[in-house]
Amino acid sequence: MKEGIAGKTIYRKDYLAYPWDVNHLDLHFDIGIETTIVRAEMAFELKDGAGAPQDIVLNGSDLQLVSIRLNDRILTTDDYVLEGETLTIPGAPQNSILKTEVRIHPASNSALEGLYLSGKFLLTQCEAQGFRKITWFPDRPDVMTTYRVTLEADKSNFPVLLSNGNKTETAELPSGRHRVCWQDPFPKPSYLFALVAGDLSLVEDHFITRSGRDVSLRIYVEKENLDRCDHAMESLVNSMRWDEDRFDLEYDLDIYHIVATNDFNMGAMENKSLNIFNSKYVLARPDTATDADYQGIEGVIGHEYFHNWTGNRVTCQDWFQLTLKEGLTVFRDEEFSADMQSRAVKRIRVVRDLRSRQFPEDDGPMAHPIRPDHYAEINNFYTATVYQKGATIIRMYHTLLGESGFQKGMKLYFERHDGQAVTCDDFLSAMADANDVNLDRFGRWYSQSGTPQVFVSDHYDASTKRYTLTLKQITPATPGQQDKLPLVLPFALGLLTSQGEELALQLEGETEAVSGTRLLIMEEAQQAFSFINIPQAPVPSLFRDYSAPVKIFFDYLPEQLATLIAYDSDAYVRWDAAQRMAQNAILEQCRQRAKGNEMVLDTSLVRAFRGIMSDNQADPALLAEALQLPDEDYLAEQMEVADVEGIHEARKFIKKGLAIELEALFSGRYATLNDGSPYQKTAIAMARRSLKNICLSYLLETGTGESLAGAQLASSDNMTDTLAAMQGLVLMDSPLAKTALLEFETKWQADALVMDKWFIMQAIKPGSNTVTTVRALMDHPAFSIQNPNKVRALIGVFAMLNPTGFHAADGSGYAFHADRVIELDALNPQIAARMASAFNRWKRYDEGRKALMKTELERIASAGGLSGDVSEIVSNALR
Ligand SMILES: [Zn+2]
Repeated sequence: MKEGIAGKTIYRKDYLAYPWDVNHLDLHFDIGIETTIVRAEMAFELKDGAGAPQDIVLNGSDLQLVSIRLNDRILTTDDYVLEGETLTIPGAPQNSILKTEVRIHPASNSALEGLYLSGKFLLTQCEAQGFRKITWFPDRPDVMTTYRVTLEADKSNFPVLLSNGNKTETAELPSGRHRVCWQDPFPKPSYLFALVAGDLSLVEDHFITRSGRDVSLRIYVEKENLDRCDHAMESLVNSMRWDEDRFDLEYDLDIYHIVATNDFNMGAMENKSLNIFNSKYVLARPDTATDADYQGIEGVIGHEYFHNWTGNRVTCQDWFQLTLKEGLTVFRDEEFSADMQSRAVKRIRVVRDLRSRQFPEDDGPMAHPIRPDHYAEINNFYTATVYQKGATIIRMYHTLLGESGFQKGMKLYFERHDGQAVTCDDFLSAMADANDVNLDRFGRWYSQSGTPQVFVSDHYDASTKRYTLTLKQITPATPGQQDKLPLVLPFALGLLTSQGEELALQLEGETEAVSGTRLLIMEEAQQAFSFINIPQAPVPSLFRDYSAPVKIFFDYLPEQLATLIAYDSDAYVRWDAAQRMAQNAILEQCRQRAKGNEMVLDTSLVRAFRGIMSDNQADPALLAEALQLPDEDYLAEQMEVADVEGIHEARKFIKKGLAIELEALFSGRYATLNDGSPYQKTAIAMARRSLKNICLSYLLETGTGESLAGAQLASSDNMTDTLAAMQGLVLMDSPLAKTALLEFETKWQADALVMDKWFIMQAIKPGSNTVTTVRALMDHPAFSIQNPNKVRALIGVFAMLNPTGFHAADGSGYAFHADRVIELDALNPQIAARMASAFNRWKRYDEGRKALMKTELERIASAGGLSGDVSEIVSNALR
């Protein structure tokens, strides 16, 4: 647990290189659950140019120091300065061998950073600053060295002993103990160190790299999960092949380990050759995991594997550069998923995620550039901004430079920086130099926070057949950043006739018209683009493929949106047009409701959705995306003052109205797709299930869905169909729901991952009563507040995905949640801080809710012994 010291702010501009090279690190672990003894030997050599003598500064946290020696001399407390998490040895000689011995206590480590216990095995999590909970070391990413790790433990309890690199020695020791040594030939920063010790079972496969290296692939899990590793293994093999084919990058060791744990703060961790995964992103069987889980596993396995080059071989100079590895690697995993599944569907899901999670962050108290300028607690900056917005910025390089230009930049990046800890500026320079272009202005994306708003207006002159689009970009002020500069925006567009035919485009001054999407560049605050020989007033198809991460404002007429939905060649634009139309309809009815008027169903929306439902050619997954109405939180973000009940009621009204109007189409399509064929894992089968289940969700609004859901539940052979039917029954409060939940619980009570779904189904149920259910579920034997997955499933889902529950007008949701934040902070500050961020948007609600949330924030802030993690979030929110 963190001590009650609010962390002090660290600034990017204060970066100083570490004056020492660490030439090698030898680690020796005497493994025990209660106490583990760690002996470290490190060779320090003063860097050229660092004026001697220099202090050696080390980081450590919660370490019980046994001894410390410098060049074989035992140091006493007079020889070093121990202050907080820093140990300083003043004026050390140019070549210094430092030996330390510490004791650490894995079983009592509930923060899940450093070495900790999960079930019956021990494992580590070191990113960002967990290594300092293992031993004294310069725990910063720009100190890279080679590691030799010796692990000794009781063989019956810890038959498997793993660390990074290749295994170099195994030995039997007296008293039933054994020793295993590992050596990693690649220098790495401490955050990539990993260790696993325990009784784990293994699934093994092989991959032959293109240069002929035979790599052994091993997934370690608890014995009962051995039959749930196939998909993860297949995803790993696909990732390795894809990175060779698309990025010309090959794996560099003879072994690749993945270990799955139920107790993990994040999704997974890319430790060199020893990835540690949240079991959610490894374990899958058709009856235990949904299609979304399968896709999540493929994406995360890819992500961690791709880090081997973008993150491990080339790492970050400091934590401000986190997006250097994360934005780039998210872009790579998005491309991998797009190549494996449907590119269009993947793109839409990415955009939906960005809008619903990153945009609010960029508009809230924690708004920060993808490369932040300061932080108090780095764990709070593993954000949608650094990851997802970071990836869109990498995507813009790709859009501007094209695939071959982008790959040239990647190649130069690796040529220049393999084995180094570098900065975002180094990446930008490699891209610019490889393509001989100036990207200086593009670099503003790294330093500016906030989501740019682009206001588009158009003018058609029938007499000259000239069509002009005027774009104005404004980035609103964010905390600490009042004035914003114009950004470089790749602007991909097309123009359609009102009948939906794509027009060939000729910009004024050009000699001929070119058909297909045009890529234009906007880099000024305001810019106009004029097209000539345009025969009629066109329908603009703007920012195709979502070419820049901006909010696009254009006053589309309903018939223009209908044209785009029906005819545009770009899947993102079609989807976005359907979302806009639905959003306009819901918000309008929300306004009518607030005025006391009756709500009415917009006929143009019905026509458009009828068109979508009648499309028998399109990918069913794309149709499913188009039919999914914008979620309540996203809609709330579009209002000046969020109307919690109004949005919920208006959205429900529109959905029900569409369901009634289009019932024949929904039930016809449902019947066709629900053909009783056995489960398949293919992309097309997943696409069909997604459309089938969205049809079911509409039918559940009309009354005909209940019996369909009951039948689907009874005959389902996979978790996707089971969950869709059950969730539907729970949401409509069907009498069938109670039995279904009970049967589900009885069947899966011993299965942690599946039980997460059971908690989610109940936590997400709208209404002010849900807080009572959630409170009661905390006493369920399958729930544990110490387990991050459980916390996210029950408490996180309630606070972040259940607006009418969390924002209950009496404040009961807020009070419950604030109690949980305080309770969690004593156990796991990182997770507590995530949960605290549910209050970040408090200023966007009505006066009553604002006052209630502020009270809870102040109550958290004044709780004694608050961690730096939570106090940073809460104090920013209150500021
Ligand atoms: Zn990552």
